[in-house]
Amino acid sequence: MTTRQRITVLGATGSIGQSTLDVILRHPDRYEVHALTGHSRLDDLLLLCQQHRPKLAVVATATDAAAFSERLRKAGLATDVLHGEAGLCEVAAASEVDAVMAAIVGAAGLRPTLAAVRAGKKVLLANKEALVMSGALFMQAVRDSNAVLLPIDSEHNAIFQCLPGGYAQGLAAVGVRRILLTASGGPFRETPLAELADVSPERACAHPNWSMGRKISVDSATMANKGLELIEACWLFDARPSQVEVVVHPQSVIHSLVDYIDGSVLAQLGNPDMRTPIANALSWPQRIDSGVPPLDLFSIARLDFHKPDEQRFPCLRLARQAAEAGSSAPATLNAANEVAVAAFLDRRIRYTEIASMIEAVLAKEPCVVLDSLDAVFDADARARRAAEQWLTQASR
Ligand code: NAD
Ligand code: MG
Repeated sequence: MTTRQRITVLGATGSIGQSTLDVILRHPDRYEVHALTGHSRLDDLLLLCQQHRPKLAVVATATDAAAFSERLRKAGLATDVLHGEAGLCEVAAASEVDAVMAAIVGAAGLRPTLAAVRAGKKVLLANKEALVMSGALFMQAVRDSNAVLLPIDSEHNAIFQCLPGGYAQGLAAVGVRRILLTASGGPFRETPLAELADVSPERACAHPNWSMGRKISVDSATMANKGLELIEACWLFDARPSQVEVVVHPQSVIHSLVDYIDGSVLAQLGNPDMRTPIANALSWPQRIDSGVPPLDLFSIARLDFHKPDEQRFPCLRLARQAAEAGSSAPATLNAANEVAVAAFLDRRIRYTEIASMIEAVLAKEPCVVLDSLDAVFDADARARRAAEQWLTQASR
């Protein structure tokens, strides 16, 4: 019998976290859960603890930890409870852990994800914001620690599957011309532009193909998500922004493509279900059943492709500009977007103001070199302050 891999799931109560645990449950011979973390939705975390019996759970605060411990005891579980960022970093770096699913949303995931990287773990990266904020430092930490970084984003996992194993020497060395990053176009691909100012958070979160957390759902509607993914692809695959082309593909069946200099274009196809990239990364370089039904090409029948419309999706243009500017621009873009999306979900700003706010913050904040984690968090904090300031002016 082979030993089971011990897994920490950061962000276990979220959409990616729950899909990860669904795949893990199908393979009790291969995986066991070391730690689960959740920020809110502690009822869900309790259910997950009952199902997976982790050694540790991590919640937000000391008060939450005391109350959650009590609930675990009453449920007859021996799970210990930690809290806060220190707790998250501890379970990400613990010596008995083999792999870490990094599925916290937003900048809050950066320190715990980096803790897993620095401890040389197999890191399954869903938390794209962490990489976007700290790109060069993050990738240097991967090289220094020999961590194995596996992309969970469906597009990046598709690209990873379409590249030969030795692509780390650079795309040119393996004959790659371009990466084609597919995008569904989200719920507003065809909505009249004049209607966009009045769309509600509920409409923005109703993605036609994928079921996801609220922040990434809004990012998918604005295509800020594709912009973050463009930056993510540049870091993961050592590509220039000009080598990454975005293709709108409404069916979300092709998850991305790699274009080689001999004219070959390799694509990865599948049903839009995150359990496929999760299972792929968990078991890499082997393959396991993910629970995803086989792709039925006859019922799909056709695949469409369009150029993205930058008037409809200004966030994509802004992200490309930030990718080209480099240094702190991606961290600034990410922070402004996080504040803007939260404000939109709270009905403090209109949908169309998300892009206006990011543009204003990018124009205001200087582009500086990020040579330490402190510098990354400084740029993040400055951009958040500028975004909050914009909010108070806008809602005068
Ligand atoms: P979600 O909102 O469903 O879940 C987020 C998780 O993060 C929850 O467990 C929550 O408790 C935790 N969390 C939130 N704020 C936190 C904080 N301050 N400190 C600690 N934990 C906190 O989000 P999701 O859709 O699962 O997305 C998670 C990440 O995966 C995001 O970075 C997203 O971009 C990426 N991703 C998601 C999908 C998808 O299909 N959902 C696809 C590709 C990439
Ligand atoms: Mg994606």
